[in-house]
Amino acid sequence: MRAVLDHIGIAVRDIGEALAFYRDALGLDVEAPEEVASQRVKAHFIPVGGPALELLEATTSDSAVAKFVDKRGPGIHHVTLRVENIRLALAHLKTRGVRLVDDEPRLGAEGALVAFIHPSAAHGVLVELKEKPVEQPDLRVHRLALGDLQLTILYDGPFKLDGGAMFGIVPRALWEKRAHPDDRNRIQLVMRPLLVEAEWGRLLIDCGAGEKLPAKALDMYGFDRSRGLDVALGEAGVEPGSIDAVLATHLHFDHFGGATARVDDRLVPRFPRARYLIRAAEWEDATHTHERNRSSYIADDFVPLQLAGVVDFFGRDQMIRPGVRVVRTGGHTGQHQIVFLESGGKTAVFVADLIPTTAHLPDAWIMGYDLFPMETLTFKKRFIREAIERDYLILFEHDPRIAAGYIREKNGKRFVEPVA
Ligand SMILES: [Zn+2]
Ligand SMILES: [Zn+2]
Repeated sequence: MRAVLDHIGIAVRDIGEALAFYRDALGLDVEAPEEVASQRVKAHFIPVGGPALELLEATTSDSAVAKFVDKRGPGIHHVTLRVENIRLALAHLKTRGVRLVDDEPRLGAEGALVAFIHPSAAHGVLVELKEKPVEQPDLRVHRLALGDLQLTILYDGPFKLDGGAMFGIVPRALWEKRAHPDDRNRIQLVMRPLLVEAEWGRLLIDCGAGEKLPAKALDMYGFDRSRGLDVALGEAGVEPGSIDAVLATHLHFDHFGGATARVDDRLVPRFPRARYLIRAAEWEDATHTHERNRSSYIADDFVPLQLAGVVDFFGRDQMIRPGVRVVRTGGHTGQHQIVFLESGGKTAVFVADLIPTTAHLPDAWIMGYDLFPMETLTFKKRFIREAIERDYLILFEHDPRIAAGYIREKNGKRFVEPVA
């Protein structure tokens, strides 16, 4: 079992006196109190770096905290360990004969599931186990009309990347407020390929990570393959055989891994009727890797396409189909590109890894993965200004909850007005 220290609970007799010490004398920030009805206490959390302190104020004279204070005076009441799956943890302890206070988890502060282990089992300490509520990523198909183009936002399941790597030079103290890291420091992301339909046919932009990832990668990146692109296409009523073309923003495995599939030990194009549209210079980079980009490019994702003769290479920014235009951004990879969708006087932009999530709106919030961050900065600054001024609808490929929205700015602060 993996467990990390979440907080230390301190039973207080007089919350006013306790605040006079912890807040006023020590100068710590005390969060607004939260009433935990099931335990008849008010919890006042005090962040102190990693784990927190929790001042416990009884709300009734028969609460366990009131009894504790009556009997032993104020002091350390419990230690809370956070686990990934509280039901598994309890089952694990039960099979080892550990005496529990709670056989079943109950609802604790911050909407978490909690359960207490009896102090007699933990050498005189009341130990609380806690499972943090997970924010579920939004995996739904969204349909949007843009002039003559029909846009269908698909999904290829959730995954997780290291929070530090996702925010580059930004300190965790700032980014963790916008993207909550798990116990392995990873933040929740999703993959959202985009289907564009018009009278000229069906074009898929990016195609997720696919089903070829080894077990080690599935674990390390927290992939859940039960909600992959096939499920999304099914939900959208689109046959893989009906896709005419698949366009790559770049060839990283979380964007183009789904381009090939393993069938009877052979790697074949995933979409049998499609042409695969790839920027020639990106192909060059992906097939001539170096230490800094090697783990992001997997040859099995794209080399089989060339062997099958289904790749159409192109060289520069251009109209790929009527209303679909690619623009090189560089920065993230040397040839990373975004896709402008223009019809009926409106513009939507599939921004791929230029602005991977809505947490990346500030100019300097640039991924540590980017090979040329100054190039990202230059392009991004100009692009976001343009997006605000011209009312571009932005399609966020990796945001766990907002698939599409407009970037707004008020009093120098940027935010997204979501539409999907
Ligand atoms: Zn990438
Ligand atoms: Zn990506």
